Parts: sequence; structure tokens; C-alpha cells
Amino acid sequence: MRTTHTLPLLSLLAAAAPVAAQAPAVPSPAQVLGHELGERFTDHGGVVRYMEALDAASPRVEVRRYGASVEGRPLLQVVIAREDYLSRLDEVMALNRELSDPGTSESRAREIAARNPAVVYLSYGVHGNESSSSEASLWTAWDLARGAESVAGVLDSVVVVIDPAVNPDGRDRYVSWYRQARGAEPNANPEAREHWEPWPGGRYNHYLFDLNRDWAWLSQQETRARIASWSTWTPQVHVDFHEMGWTSSYFFFPAAKPINPIYPEHTHKWGRRIGEGNARAFDRHGWLYYTGESYDLFYPGYGDSWPSLLGAIGMTYEQAGGGRAGLAIERPDGTTLTLRDRATHHWTTGAATLRTAAAGRSELLLDYARFHRTVGAGEPDVLLVPGDDPGRVEALVELLRGQGIRVERAERPFRAEAMAYAGFGARREFPAGTYRIPARQPRGRLATTLLQPETVLEATFSYDVSAWSLPFAYGVEAHRADGVPDAGWRPAAGAVATLTANGAPAADGSPPADAAPPSNGAPAVKASEPYGYLVAPSFAAWPPLVRFLEAGGRGIVLDEPFRAADREWPAGTLFLPRFLNPELGGLVRDAGLDARAVAAMSGFTPAGNDLGTRDAYPLELPRVAVLAGDGVSPTSFGAHWFFLEQTLGLPFDAVPSDRIGAVELDEYDVLVLPDMGRAALDTGALEAIEAWVRDGGTVVAVAGGAAVVAPRIAEIELRATADEADEDRDRDTARALRGRKARELERWEEEVPGTILALRLDPAHPLAFGAGVDGDPERLYVLHNAGRTFEPDESFESVAYFRDALEKVSGVVSDRNLERLARSAWLATRRVGDGRLILFADDPLFRHFWYSGFQPFANAILIGPAL
Ligand SMILES: [Zn+2]
Repeated sequence: MRTTHTLPLLSLLAAAAPVAAQAPAVPSPAQVLGHELGERFTDHGGVVRYMEALDAASPRVEVRRYGASVEGRPLLQVVIAREDYLSRLDEVMALNRELSDPGTSESRAREIAARNPAVVYLSYGVHGNESSSSEASLWTAWDLARGAESVAGVLDSVVVVIDPAVNPDGRDRYVSWYRQARGAEPNANPEAREHWEPWPGGRYNHYLFDLNRDWAWLSQQETRARIASWSTWTPQVHVDFHEMGWTSSYFFFPAAKPINPIYPEHTHKWGRRIGEGNARAFDRHGWLYYTGESYDLFYPGYGDSWPSLLGAIGMTYEQAGGGRAGLAIERPDGTTLTLRDRATHHWTTGAATLRTAAAGRSELLLDYARFHRTVGAGEPDVLLVPGDDPGRVEALVELLRGQGIRVERAERPFRAEAMAYAGFGARREFPAGTYRIPARQPRGRLATTLLQPETVLEATFSYDVSAWSLPFAYGVEAHRADGVPDAGWRPAAGAVATLTANGAPAADGSPPADAAPPSNGAPAVKASEPYGYLVAPSFAAWPPLVRFLEAGGRGIVLDEPFRAADREWPAGTLFLPRFLNPELGGLVRDAGLDARAVAAMSGFTPAGNDLGTRDAYPLELPRVAVLAGDGVSPTSFGAHWFFLEQTLGLPFDAVPSDRIGAVELDEYDVLVLPDMGRAALDTGALEAIEAWVRDGGTVVAVAGGAAVVAPRIAEIELRATADEADEDRDRDTARALRGRKARELERWEEEVPGTILALRLDPAHPLAFGAGVDGDPERLYVLHNAGRTFEPDESFESVAYFRDALEKVSGVVSDRNLERLARSAWLATRRVGDGRLILFADDPLFRHFWYSGFQPFANAILIGPAL
């Protein structure tokens, strides 16, 4: 970008200045906040204050609070519309919502498109340290409210919804740090401290989740609130304003490949048309930009892909800058990039996008209607069959319903021609209780994308994971079928709760959600005190079990299958005996456990070990530390934090990585190492950890954390990478001569970018209890990320490993890499001294959406110390 900090501002302000229509006195951001655009960072309180001032001053502006961040900051939708639209907004939105009904006829759509405004939804600051966007949002809102020339007439054709700060906690983390780090004047030297954000940075939300990966998984409350309000607006255009590397220029659509092939032509047509409008606005100033590179439209958890699956033209705009850029930074090309420049660019594309959308209003609405009229064409429905662990399918259905996807449940058995997902047996008979997700429904493209076994990826590079198919993520038997017969289909019942409803109060102090009881088909407990209670192993059982342990309860994990209380119980069943728990009945009730009472005198089982067997592990609440801080992946630490605190309800201490040598590790039973770089733990720290393990501690390490301790403490070798393993000289030479494109493709495939693979589990190992997919205790699906696995050896246990003749289930992976991964260990454990290491090759809690990873990880934390 060839721009200097002296050039653009004043001239631009003049260019975009109000032609002061006869609009009422609408205060500028500078009047309310005391600073001009980009002069200082506006904290979130200032953003809210300005939007509320606009609301008070302008009849075109209405501020709605659609939720709160984890730290309690309000989430805003600032609606800006012509007075007559605003006064009957519900009616206007209801008409647009009609267009999202696949049954709406073309003639009805024409009627609506002839007179109704389109909706343009602008989201700013999903990444909190990409801070210029929220600054721009204030000026765009001001322009619309006062009728500035740059957006003249726009409100005749569109209703604008502005979310000025999607991630307010991350924004304030960045802004308050920057204010502390800068001196009297901003320092543009990129080496100055104000250009180096400390760990964990402002990109993420409170729990360090990347909210621009979460749209499809709803793990965070900011996402849930936004998705819940989406159907109010049914936008035709959505822009997600970001920042990228500080030496770059500006990116807008059309998108780069890969692009999910489910998008119809109109998605691409509008991406290009709006891009051309932005380009004209940038060309006028001579600003640099690019399109069609780097930012794709594939992974469904992005703020461009997800809205596009609902028929919007969902786009990402990227300004050079980000957390590195501060108020001003000198760039290698000699220019100085200022916050004012960055915000001006976002302000400019915002206005250009609004102009293009307004000019194409009725065509946008008609294309939006056609998107929905054609939904589900040629796509099969998906059938989900509950098995032994119905908690899995229930958790998946809950996510789908949270996404606004219609899910139906069969009241009676039926027959259908269906195609089983890979790894599941074919069937024609489906039981009552089978779930169906119709492809033809308003959110059918979203449902198909989330559920289909594979989304075709046509490109040689993608920005993110290449697979996510949810039946594999949840370990649920699934089939695809056309023409499913009537089976008394009823909408799946029950309030949409959240995956994380564990009864623990949310961090914002809001009251706890109702805990969904795990349903293992057992009756409710009786008030009398029986011999004990049995709980089948299942992830749904862990949160109430943790509450039971926290209240002082004690249990036993039974190592072998047995028969009792008129049913078979698998290995890993939990026995809560009266013998260890004087107040057993009350403990079980208070914990919300759905346990089956074992009647008095039935400790003697008809088949298998008796309940007092020695072939068992004691279950106690472990004292857990999780490594945090420099060198640790913020999102991996965040996923562990959120999982332990919000999903499992297990207290833990986050321990800074540079304190590990000084911490009294003896205070803990389990030390968790999230994904991290090699530098996170120095030699002294590793020695301290090893001494503690030899003394009886349990390390649970994932991904990069496992790679650090595997060779150093466990003497477990990593499987060699493909390059290291390839010793064939001729092949080496041929390979060395391949071109740059071939090298890039290979490098990408070697990385294994988020590919679904099946593991073989040892169902007799306690770490595998309840972890197999529904109906098959020997199989576990993982989202494999980095090509990192362990070399099996007699000296340690390989609890889960990749089979010989490994085939991919879904996603991108090279044959060479499959060959390399075959017969390598994914979950390894080894005794060292009196302690133990439990190593996961991947992070099983990645983005908190791969439900199948939760059970082996919970086993590692809760049963691991007793092994
Ligand atoms: Zn971003």
C-alpha cells in the first residue's frame, strides 16, 4: 500500500463529509468521544456510548442488545433504516423471512422484492486486536444516520445492521494493553514494545476461542447469541471486517479457492460485483488491494462461509494491520501505516458495499429467494440412529437445533434404501427414535455441509481444516437416504440447551442452565439407600459424576464387563457403592446422576466380576494444573480451560509456563500440557516435571505438548516424517527436481490439514472406556491435524492407533502420508517411575467441537491417576 500518514485523512474526510442533508443534528464520533477517526483507540465502552448517542439523536437508528460477552460486555446490533422501515421493522423483516422459505413461489418473491428493502449486516472486530474495524463502524454508522453523500440514498433500498464489536472482551484486552504500552507519542518503529502484544493477545474471546472458527459449533456464548438472533434479520449481504499482516494491502471478495461447491452461482456473482464496487472506490485513491487470493470460502465456521450457507453474500474484508500495527507502524516499503489509514479503508469499503447492495436491491432479494427455492435439490436426507450411548446423538441433535436446522424423530420403525456412512454397517430397517435431517429446509445447505461425509475440496491449499463431518465428530451411526417414508416424523423435542450446560454458573454470573440428564435408559434413582449405583461409561455421565466427586462422593471404575440389574454392563462402568458413600442417595440426586440403583444384596453378579472386585480403579476428584502462558497455544489452552470449567465442571489451576520450576507440583495429581511450541518448557522445567512424574504425578499432554515430553520424559519416539523416512536416493532426486507448484501441493498434503481418520481403540484399556463410536467400542474417529504420531514400541501401551492399510474417511491427505501414518500410535501411555504420561497426538479438544475426543480426554484426567 503506497500511502503515507500525511496524505489521506483530511482530504478523505472532506470527500466523505456530510452534504448535511436536512438530517437532524447527529453527533459525530469525535463530538461524543473526543477524538477523530484513528487518533486513538476507542474502547468498547466508547463504542457503546457512541452508538447509544446515535440512537438518542437519530430517528433512523435503533440500538438492540442481542446478548453479552463472557465478561459481561453488551453485544449490539445497531439497526439503521429509513424512518418508515424502522417504524414497521417487524413487518419488513417478516416479508424478507418469507423469501427464505423454500415453498415461497417465484411470483410471491417478485412481489416482495419489488418493494421491500434488502438487509446488509456488517460485523466488525470478531478478532479483538484487529481493531481498526470497530473504529470504522462508528463512522459508517454516523454517515448513514446523517445521510452523508458517500451513502446517499442507500437507506431507500437497504436496512443496515451494524455489529460494531463482535468480540468486545478481546477488543478491550488489546486496547487497554496498547494504552499502557505506548508512550506520550506513538512509536512507529516496529521493534518498539507497543507492537508486540503479550500472550494471549486480543484476537480471542474470554476463553481464548477464535470466534471466527466458531460459527458452526456454537461453543461460545457470543456465537450462540448471534446465531439465535440471525433469523430476525435474514441478511442478503454479510461483511466480516478483519485485519491481516501489517505489511500487506487490502483484501476483499471474490474469494480464493477452495470454495464449498454447494454455493449457487449467485453467491459468486455478487462476491464479484461487490468486489468491483470496492475496487472502484480504492482505485480513486490509488490504494492497493487484492482479490481471489488467500481467503477462501470452505470451512463452515467462518463469518463469510456460514452466512453464505444461509443465502447471504458472506464476505471477509482484510486490512493490513492487526495487533502488530498499533497507532502507527513503519513498513519495509518506507510507508507509515496508521490506525487512521486502516480505519479509513474499512470505512470506504463499508460505504462502497452499501452502495452496490442498494443499487442491486431487488436482484439481491430475488437471488436470495432462488437460493432457498432450490435448496436440497439432489441432496439426500441424513438419518441418525441412536445406539448404546444415546448421549452422542442427543448432543449432535442439540447442536443442529441450535443452528436453526429442523430435526425430526421417527415415532415408529421404518424401512428405507439408505447409504451408510463409511465404517457403519448397511441397514434398511430403522428403529423408532431415528432422527432425520431433511435436506429441503430453509437451512438445508448448512445442514448438508455440516453432515455430509465429505465436502469436495478443489484447490491445492486451504486456510483451515479440510473436513468436519459431524456424524464422525460425534461418533454417531449415520445414513443418507432419498425418499424416506412416513414414520410419524415429529420435530425433535426439548428446549435447545447448550452442549456446555453442566449446571455451573456462567462466567458472567448468569444463572446456570438446566443440566440435561444423561439418558442411558435407566430409571430415576429411588430415595432409599441401596447397595450402590451403576453408571455406564459415556461422556454425558462425566459432568454429573464430577459434581458427585466434588461433593465428596467416591466411586470405582470396573475393569471388566458384567451382568447386573437385568442388563449387560460394559467395561468402564462406574460403581458408586454405599460402602464408600454414607450419604449415597443424596449425593447421587444432588449431582443429577441418571444412575441405575443396584438393589441390596446384588453385589453378587450373575455373570462377570462381582461389584466388590479388585479388578477396578478408584475414582476420586483429581487436583489438576494446566500449563498456560508464553509458548502455549492460546486456543488450545482456551479449549482446555473451557472444557474443564464449563463442560466438565472440574476445578483446576492454570499455571504460567515460566513458573513450572517454582510451583509445588506435589499439590497436583494431574498436569495438563496443551498444544505448545518446543520453547514453552526449558530444560529445568522438564526436569521438574519428570521428577514429579517419577514421584507419582500424571502428565496428560496433547499435540505439541505431547511432542515435547514424549522423547524427553517418556522415551517415546515420534513417527518420522515422510521426508525423513524416504531413503530412496533415486526417488529423492526425482522429487528434488519437481516444480514449485508440486512442492506446494505436497507440503500442504504432508501437513494433513484437519483430516478425518479412523483409529483402532483397545476397548479393554481404561482410557478407551466409553470412547468408541456408538455401537463399536474398537473404533474412534479423530480430526488429525499435523501428521504427528508415535512410533509403537513394546515398552508402552498404544491405546489408539492407525490401522494398517489406512484409508482416509474425509478431507485431504496424501497416499504417502496415509502410508506413513499406518500402524502408528495416536494415544500412548507409559508408566515412568511411580507416575504416568498419557499422550495424545492431536488436541482432542480442538475448537471444542469434536465430541468424540471428549471421552478419552476425560478418562485421561479422571481415571488416568489411578492406572
Ligand atoms: Zn481476523
